[in-house]
Amino acid sequence: MGEAPEPWEWPESHWRGLVQRVRAGRSLAPDQWPGGAPFAVALSFDSDHETNDLRDGGGSISRQSWGQFGARKGAPRIMDILARHQAPASFYVPAVSALLHPEEQRRLVDEGHEIGIHGWIHELNSTLPYDAERDLMLRARDTLEQVSRQRPVGIRTPSWDFSPNTLRIICEMGLAYDSSLMADDDCYELEMDGQPTGVVELPVEWIRDDAVYFGMNRFSGLRPYTAPEAVLDIFRRELEGAAADGGLFQLTMHPHIIGARSRIWILDEVIRLAKSKGAWFATHAQVVAHVAARCGLQGKTGAAAA
Ligand SMILES: [Zn+2]
Repeated sequence: MGEAPEPWEWPESHWRGLVQRVRAGRSLAPDQWPGGAPFAVALSFDSDHETNDLRDGGGSISRQSWGQFGARKGAPRIMDILARHQAPASFYVPAVSALLHPEEQRRLVDEGHEIGIHGWIHELNSTLPYDAERDLMLRARDTLEQVSRQRPVGIRTPSWDFSPNTLRIICEMGLAYDSSLMADDDCYELEMDGQPTGVVELPVEWIRDDAVYFGMNRFSGLRPYTAPEAVLDIFRRELEGAAADGGLFQLTMHPHIIGARSRIWILDEVIRLAKSKGAWFATHAQVVAHVAARCGLQGKTGAAAA
């Protein structure tokens, strides 16, 4: 029994194989946006609610109450602002969160928003064997469809965590897109083991995630470290960069985080700024459908069964 070689001892074929398991393929930056808009805005909200604690064992009634705030106050505040601006958005909802808050999901769909897969109970995909990960993703999709009466066509993995099997399962399910990885500013086609998959990646970034700046854990050193004004400044610069490039501005927020009275105005300001620059507001699914059509991607329709 020899010891496994250290990374610096690996042959080239080994490290090339590792980075080719899931990799960005061709860019899907479109030559134009609908209506001649100069750039696109894709707002998203991960409706984790109580599942952030349930995923860790369900031991903290306090953390569950923070999650419940997301459903009671955060999500309605967000939906009110989106409605006022007539801005569609995408909500990624763990199945357990959807079952705990079915009325919220129905309101989202009624108001023109997208609901996407976000795990069963916010489990970490990289900790799961293939069979369990596949079973949970299928059950999550079916549960979201039953609750919201809208069939999800895309996924954002919980905690943006990706196992070596995640993309394979996405392909097997016939999903149109993933929104969990960050190899570009603009959409791109995902490749698996060096082969194009037809699956669109709509990339995220930690920089454009409210949780990074406002995260809080009573029993660790994690505390909010950025003032709301500074977070808006970061989001604004990302937005202005996307506008200058004619590209895509994507943002990730959480109802229990951005939904606080002292922060919700950030969302309002971001939308106002984007509107003043003539942005095309769309759900992630709508952005994906547009870039796939403009770039001639022989992609997924999201209709395939598994
Ligand atoms: Zn989440």
